[in-house]
Amino acid sequence: MSKIDTLCVHAGYTPGKGDPRQLPVIQSTTFKYETSDQMGRLFDLEESGYFYSRLQNPTCDAVAARIAALEGGVGAVLTSSGQAANLLACLNICRAGDHIISLNNIYGGTFNLLEVTLRQMGIDVTFIDQRNSDEEIAAAFRPGTKLLFAETLSNPGVEVLDIERFAAIAHSHGVPLVVDNTFATPIHCRPFEWGADIVTHSTTKYFDGHGTTVGGCIVDSGNFDWEAHADRYPGLCTPDASYHGLTYTKKFGKAAYITKAVTHLMRDLGSCQSPQNAFYLNLGLQTLHLRVRRHNESARKVAAFLQQHPAVAWVRFPDLPDDPEHGKMLKYLPEGSCGVMCLGLKGGRAFDERFMDALRLVTIETHVADCYTCILHPASHTHRQLSDEQLRAAGIAPDLIRLSIGLEDPDDIIADLSAALDAAAV
Ligand SMILES: *Cc1c(COP(=O)(O)O)cnc(C)c1O
Repeated sequence: MSKIDTLCVHAGYTPGKGDPRQLPVIQSTTFKYETSDQMGRLFDLEESGYFYSRLQNPTCDAVAARIAALEGGVGAVLTSSGQAANLLACLNICRAGDHIISLNNIYGGTFNLLEVTLRQMGIDVTFIDQRNSDEEIAAAFRPGTKLLFAETLSNPGVEVLDIERFAAIAHSHGVPLVVDNTFATPIHCRPFEWGADIVTHSTTKYFDGHGTTVGGCIVDSGNFDWEAHADRYPGLCTPDASYHGLTYTKKFGKAAYITKAVTHLMRDLGSCQSPQNAFYLNLGLQTLHLRVRRHNESARKVAAFLQQHPAVAWVRFPDLPDDPEHGKMLKYLPEGSCGVMCLGLKGGRAFDERFMDALRLVTIETHVADCYTCILHPASHTHRQLSDEQLRAAGIAPDLIRLSIGLEDPDDIIADLSAALDAAAV
């Protein structure tokens, strides 16, 4: 197998004689067939082929195949956003009356999806903490529990998931571990190698990397044995009436889960990615290996600078040798974590605001993980309606500032932070 840098450039698309060197954008809703029988066989899933871009499109499929190769999975599907990826990853095996267990440190958008929207759809959720004991976590499982959800590197707290531990817990209860690998990327961590079963991505972040395109992706390891828990997963293990009684596990084997995500959920819910967006995503993937390493290398320099600065109260970044997450980082992401860190300043909310207003290169944005260095203070921005007390209850330190290091020269980033800290002090 090729090394990961080569996969970034080549996987998923191998042009033949006279074909375009770069992945072409097949901007077509539909695909032509010669006979009614040919078309019928596609609809019966008797033959693979393209018929409508809501389900499958050659450009999107090539990019999905590239991501599957990077993660080491059997298949992948692109989605319209990271939110859609996490929603569909759940809906593919959960229905009303079912239950999900999730780590509590996950991205706010996913937290709301589980806590509010999936609950409204009749799917219950229990949040657990990574510091809970195995016994406490075991107590959260119910007969109707269908999956355990977590992030490799949590957003925004950059906590490192003990993937082996949570995979073992999930498997001992007969459910898959679903891991959002957005911040780590397969360049720094491939969760399937540690026992995760399904991986999701917001491709909007490092995968695209240039702030151009909202998108998402679901990848299937093919490793979870759905048939061993057939009663728990009737959608995969019993006949689907909408496809003439076909059973996904029997027909598609290791690719049962990802095939159902396409043929059932994309067909019915339609949150597909456009071929043009997949093309931009592909350009991002072709330099992912270079960019992710540079983001991390610069972030290490910035974190070291901040840690010794007298106005800085604390820095949380897994690559710092004294960080509480550093041990797990060395195991699961030995080459480095990502470009995102959290910090707190000593001067209080007014100081924080003066500091951010004084930044010139670093911009205030709700985004993270692209080529532009950006900063966000949840207490003054995304969560400004909450009191300090309410912030703490939501697990957000009132002084927490999220800093995402871009691809500028790290010396320039440090100079800007340094000048703004000085300006805020007066
Ligand atoms: C941004 C993000 C999402 C949501 O992705 P969108 O592409 O914005 O819909 C999900 N998970 C994580 C970890 C994220 O950072």
